[in-house]
Amino acid sequence: MKQTETERTPRPPDGIAAGNANVGKSPAPAAAPNTFGLAGSTTVGYLSMEIGLENNVPTFSGGLGVLAGDTLRSAADLGIRMIGVTLLYRKGYFRQSLDDAGNQAETAASWRPEMHLDEMEPRVSVQIEGRSVMLRAWRYLVRGIGGHAIPVYLLDSDVEPNAPLDREFTHSLYGGDDRYRLCQETILGIGGLQMLQALGHSDLDAYHMNEGHAALLALHLLEHRAVAKIGAADRSDVDAVRRRCVFTTHTPVPAGHDSFPKPLVESVLGSARTTILADLGLLEEQKLNMTHLALECAGYVNGVARIHQGVSQAMFPRYRIRAVTNGVHAGTWTCPSMRRLFDRHIPEWRFDNAYLRYAVDIPTAELVEAHREAKAGLIAAVRDKTGVQLDDSVFTIGFARRATPYKRADLLFHSLDRLRWIARNLGPFQLVYGGKSHPRDEGGKDLIRRVFAASKELGGAVRAVYVEDYDMQWGQLLTSGVDLWLNTPEKTREASGTSGMKAALNGVPSLSVLDGWWIEGHVEGVTGWSVANRRNAPDDEGTVAHSLYGKLERLVIPLFYERPNDYATVMRSTIALNGSFFNTHRMVSQYLFNAYSQRARVGGETRPAER
Ligand SMILES: *Cc1c(COP(=O)(O)O)cnc(C)c1O
Repeated sequence: MKQTETERTPRPPDGIAAGNANVGKSPAPAAAPNTFGLAGSTTVGYLSMEIGLENNVPTFSGGLGVLAGDTLRSAADLGIRMIGVTLLYRKGYFRQSLDDAGNQAETAASWRPEMHLDEMEPRVSVQIEGRSVMLRAWRYLVRGIGGHAIPVYLLDSDVEPNAPLDREFTHSLYGGDDRYRLCQETILGIGGLQMLQALGHSDLDAYHMNEGHAALLALHLLEHRAVAKIGAADRSDVDAVRRRCVFTTHTPVPAGHDSFPKPLVESVLGSARTTILADLGLLEEQKLNMTHLALECAGYVNGVARIHQGVSQAMFPRYRIRAVTNGVHAGTWTCPSMRRLFDRHIPEWRFDNAYLRYAVDIPTAELVEAHREAKAGLIAAVRDKTGVQLDDSVFTIGFARRATPYKRADLLFHSLDRLRWIARNLGPFQLVYGGKSHPRDEGGKDLIRRVFAASKELGGAVRAVYVEDYDMQWGQLLTSGVDLWLNTPEKTREASGTSGMKAALNGVPSLSVLDGWWIEGHVEGVTGWSVANRRNAPDDEGTVAHSLYGKLERLVIPLFYERPNDYATVMRSTIALNGSFFNTHRMVSQYLFNAYSQRARVGGETRPAER
């Protein structure tokens, strides 16, 4: 297809905003222009339970989905041939509202797919609990900066001949029980592959399973081979499937991995598929662990940061696990004033994020001005949403991510007296919080209440505000508009974390526990500050909080108020050192060279260490 002039015009990469002219619903995909020769002929199917396409398409819950969206946005920029698959979720994840005490209430985040997506013609039917469940697909186009488009297909079981309950399978993200979840994963893995074939994408070079949710894809590939030779799947079939499959694990604790009891597996998938799993030794403890299935069937497996590779390797010693550290899509996560700043000084940054290294030459006065604008935008948005007026001259700390206990959103409030003392003696500061708790995560909900209670108790001494319904839009406002990004998870629980990377791109340094990506991105006093960083330092709340207060008192707050030029230098090196690396352009290139290339998946050393 001939490229038109408009397709070649770079789009301003502000994928968060609704109604972006070049993404989403669109007349037709460009026929893979501008592949830079990087990807060769490799085409990759990318399957993910959630994908954050844009803020008004609520098919994501947090970091995993945003990462999936950023992956596809960067792949589109780089001209890589990828095809995304996820579920439609007509009721989204949920919308959060909070009362005065921080009690979370949830409502459906209903939306109209036909406003954002194009309905595709083919229908496929997938076997679930012995019934044929019909699926259709809706297409969203992620268009890259050079015009290359990546289609994402959102699977929808809410179609005509299906029974009412079957129609609900693609309504809610992470809603429902084990059975609902297994049915959804069947739709993603098996239905997804069938749909790709029906859309003319058979025999892709590689399939990327983003987290274990997509692992039934591998089962379906195996089943194909068995059917083709009219027999049972054997080791040679597993080897063949392995050459096609890439698996990224995101969960550093065993309890976080999806697993389903054998009777449920039998009932949902049927006996033939259950037999294949049993033959592979994947029903050993009368359970199907989706991570085990993916590990067994992937020729390339990776964790999402160096530390997470180690943690995963210890959890799964039989398999070789690599590391590809996560990133974020720079064009999406930089705020408008920073984009303009980069465009003026390093215009190459949009096409090649590595140029952000040259942020070292940006005059700090201009950086400070761009940040001032971002901070004013955040303060105005907070006032509009909550009625709380923050002070633009006051040091502002941000904390926003999924509200779940291991993230310890309330850790900063360990000693309210100490916080009051800091504010009185070293300089005022204010706090902006955000984050949703999964509807059934009582610990997460309690965490939000504790943040509310502490804020109230602090009263006027330290102003704190919690913004409802944290989403991508708020994500950009917060990570660009605060002066410091706070991160205090329990150690080794944060596989990578990405919000601190968004902050770094916007010149906002982190104050963080040494976990996930921060172990790689932290240079003390240069890109931010670490908390409880001594080797084998205890990880209890008291110790971490004490260290955190110490850093604020001795280093961070004095630097901000007494040596603003030095603070601006930290902001600048944060962009130059971390923005230039912790982006999805670099990450996707690493997947391309290390995982997607034929060599990566065929080489003997990519096989499991033993079987
Ligand atoms: C980036 C992002 C996250 C991930 O935050 P972490 O600190 O990595 O947990 C979650 N939710 C939204 C809306 C985001 O934009």
